[in-house]
Amino acid sequence: MTRLAIAGIMHESNTFSDTPTDAAAFSQTHASNMIKRWEEAHHELSGFIQGATQYDYTIYPTFMATATPAGRVTDDVFDRMTEMLIQHLKAAPKHEGLLLALHGAMVVESYPDGDGEVLRRLRDAFGSDFPIVVTLDQHANVSEQMVDKSTALVIYKTTPHIDQRQRGRQAAELMMRILREEITPTQALAKPPMLLNILYHVTSAPPMVPILNAAKQLEEDPNILVANVALGYPYADVHEAGPAFVVVTDDDPQLAQMEADRLSDMLWNARGQLTVDLPNAAQAVEQAIHSEKHPVILVEMGDNIGGGSPGDSTFILAELQRQGASGFVGVIHDPEAVQSCIQAGVGGRVSLEVGGKADNLHGDPVSIHGDVRLIHDGRYIETQPRHGGQRYHDQGLTAVVVVGDSLVALTSLRQPPFSLQQLYSLGIDPTEMRMIVVKAAVAYRAAYEPIAGQIIEVDTPGLTAVNPLHFEYQNVRRPLFPLD
Ligand SMILES: [Zn+2]
Repeated sequence: MTRLAIAGIMHESNTFSDTPTDAAAFSQTHASNMIKRWEEAHHELSGFIQGATQYDYTIYPTFMATATPAGRVTDDVFDRMTEMLIQHLKAAPKHEGLLLALHGAMVVESYPDGDGEVLRRLRDAFGSDFPIVVTLDQHANVSEQMVDKSTALVIYKTTPHIDQRQRGRQAAELMMRILREEITPTQALAKPPMLLNILYHVTSAPPMVPILNAAKQLEEDPNILVANVALGYPYADVHEAGPAFVVVTDDDPQLAQMEADRLSDMLWNARGQLTVDLPNAAQAVEQAIHSEKHPVILVEMGDNIGGGSPGDSTFILAELQRQGASGFVGVIHDPEAVQSCIQAGVGGRVSLEVGGKADNLHGDPVSIHGDVRLIHDGRYIETQPRHGGQRYHDQGLTAVVVVGDSLVALTSLRQPPFSLQQLYSLGIDPTEMRMIVVKAAVAYRAAYEPIAGQIIEVDTPGLTAVNPLHFEYQNVRRPLFPLD
């Protein structure tokens, strides 16, 4: 029976962040635990695993390494991970191909195109004929190298990402058709000269809807194997930053290039719609206080944890206090404050300075006074398809402090708001709150949109500020919309 190796190395690197992503930042699943941990998730690895039954292959698990988005990946951990992958594959019993989950926006200290470098090393070790089908996050900054060194790329089609398992299965199916010699994939890349603002990364809204519909329509053509739409990750200052279109055809390079160019033109021609006009923290909180539709979701765009920021921004919290807002809940990453709560104990009174500690970009610490309601180990499970596709979550030791009739949850690990279980596990019912602050841009929507009374996106400063003009880009292609 056909045997396929499966592996994952995933990181989205914010090059404006000074927090390096080192070995300690990566959480690894080893071969022996890989199937158990990922099989039931909504991740592309789950698709690789589940595909075995559907497409009749056996799995050779290697390892999966993933870290919460932050600064560049260190050379040290990158070299170790790629070496481990190559060693695993060399030690494997006979296997015919590799299903590999990459992110596509990993930047390594010495390699701006980290994902392309993984593939280059694999090609060096195993030659150009070894089939490697790669899944990428829709925030990938796709490079020429990724296209050249992979057999085929399969990119998520949804943001928030809720189709990851499906894409994993699509990759598996493609691999099996390649091995049966039914198809010979050839792929072409097109990149419009632009960055796509994170506000427009919602695939259920314009301008992405018609473009994704066109891509899906292309896949109905039997000569077109995959029509990929990547949104890009604007917080990586690298040559390949920006949206990309990769069309994979069955041995028809001209068709691949023509259709990739056509999709690329669709986005380029929509650039006039990509305006950014959001309220600041003071305006947004005022709107939220007067809203009659609860809960109001206040989206702190400048501290989008899933985009690599510290998770301890205080701009909205400070404003909520200043304007005397009530009934809000916010989560702040502050391990020091968690320790103070543990010392005070459940029911204890605390006076804390929370947040604003990671750097000087995300506001000053804010004074809160209240009672510790709960101390929790921070672990929770999400069973639904949510952004990121993970089942097991860990926000580290967590304390909930009651401040007036509002709640502040303090976590020991940075945790993006991809799951309502983040709050439910702490005994907080988000549907009963008047306001919820989420540190995110788009990804939170899969969890929060169904319960939201109103959503207010807030233009706050920070490492993921919504306006790209806040950043000094040095390595991107020029000219580039909207910078030039
Ligand atoms: Zn993503």
